[in-house]
Amino acid sequence: MTSQKPKSHSTPHRPSQGNRDFRNRTKRSSNSSGEQKNMPRSTAQPVTGNATAQPAIILKAGREKSLLRRHPWIFSGAVERVDGAPLSGATLAVRDAAGNFLAWAAYNASSQITARVWSWREDELVDTEFFHRRIADALAARSGLKLADESSGIRLIHAESDGLPGLIADQYGDVLVMQIGSAGAERWRDAIADILQQLCNPVCIYERSDSDSRGLEGLEPRNGALRGTLPDNVEVMEHGLRFKVDVAAGQKTGFYLDQRDNRALTETLARDKDVLNCFCYTGGFSLYALRGDAKSVLSIDASGDALRIAEENLMRNGLDASRAEWLEADVFQALRKLRDQGRQFDLIILDPPKFAPTAAFAEKAARGYKDINLLAFKLLRPGGLLATYSCSGGISEDLFQKIIAGAALDAGVDAQIVHRLHASADHPVLLSFPEGAYLKGLVLRVGL
Ligand code: SAH
Repeated sequence: MTSQKPKSHSTPHRPSQGNRDFRNRTKRSSNSSGEQKNMPRSTAQPVTGNATAQPAIILKAGREKSLLRRHPWIFSGAVERVDGAPLSGATLAVRDAAGNFLAWAAYNASSQITARVWSWREDELVDTEFFHRRIADALAARSGLKLADESSGIRLIHAESDGLPGLIADQYGDVLVMQIGSAGAERWRDAIADILQQLCNPVCIYERSDSDSRGLEGLEPRNGALRGTLPDNVEVMEHGLRFKVDVAAGQKTGFYLDQRDNRALTETLARDKDVLNCFCYTGGFSLYALRGDAKSVLSIDASGDALRIAEENLMRNGLDASRAEWLEADVFQALRKLRDQGRQFDLIILDPPKFAPTAAFAEKAARGYKDINLLAFKLLRPGGLLATYSCSGGISEDLFQKIIAGAALDAGVDAQIVHRLHASADHPVLLSFPEGAYLKGLVLRVGL
């Protein structure tokens, strides 16, 4: 903590209660590209077939359609039987009811997603060479983005969207953080680490396989160095700003790389503005706003650990601490307090954690989004800007816009969409896997 700031770390973080407990399900919240795999665990597992037959997953008649569209998940409800008594993590042929080959997929007996597709080609062997090819291709795609000048933090592997279901790899300088969220990727964990070591030569590969969703996949949490030793101080340089990354205990793999472009946009919007940054984590949007000459920046997060790093980040970058205020609080409550105090802002950022991991949570999540966005609209001066995000896989872009429209209506403001935003390009979305488009954002301007 620094002494310069009007600190309000006084409000202790209280766990959310009742129907709002989704709000704090943030730590280690993400898994693969999907951020969307928190499926309720199915009690009805697929029927075991002939134990001595060639291992295979046989689908029910007509249930091959999503696979023919190359969607990489096979849900338990689509499975007629599993032949050959395979173990979770094994690569099996998936066949339609008539026995035609559809895909090679990683089996998981404990998940509602019974299998995730590795390959659509019958002649492709899923072996170490296969992972070498897929990983090398993901790395080549990242090199093609030419991100190195703008950031030393890059998502190298984005799970399903890179043809590697359940596998995330993030680069923070010369450290790689790997996150495994599927039984298939778990089975190949050591081979994958070897390949990453060989192709990227990091000083450390650290494993953050401790997302909530691992439990739903029947996998134990794991957190520790896989190769090498984690340096004491890991940081990323993003658009010239330095951020400390808490690889071992931070959220996700330590940093929200997906918001890189949107943070940079914030800098261009902030000049001379009173800015409110809700769910600020380690200060990402706040630091950009300060460098963009914001008049003041009030940043709120429920995590004291994140706020301590945020303040450290501010000092690291030599930014003007007198324009920054940090508040440890529940955003839902803090927004109400600010409203009651009559506070007003020119730019408000709302980047909450995932409220709806799947569509099943959409209704409850919609209430949460509407609540904070309605309050934010009320806190904006006429002509003010709201930059609002959802990283919920279970909320489509269309639904998100509808929720925001409802919030504006109830707040009694007219608002226009100025920007439509998504995750940065190192988080690609596979056309056949729209769930990968989990992050969406809108910058709205309220009328005078
Ligand atoms: N915008 C950030 C990432 C935000 S992640 C960036 O660019 O880095 C979401 C954040 O919301 C986390 O830091 C988490 O601690 C915080 N959070 C979750 N629930 C909260 C709540 N109810 N009130 C305040 N903060 C909350």
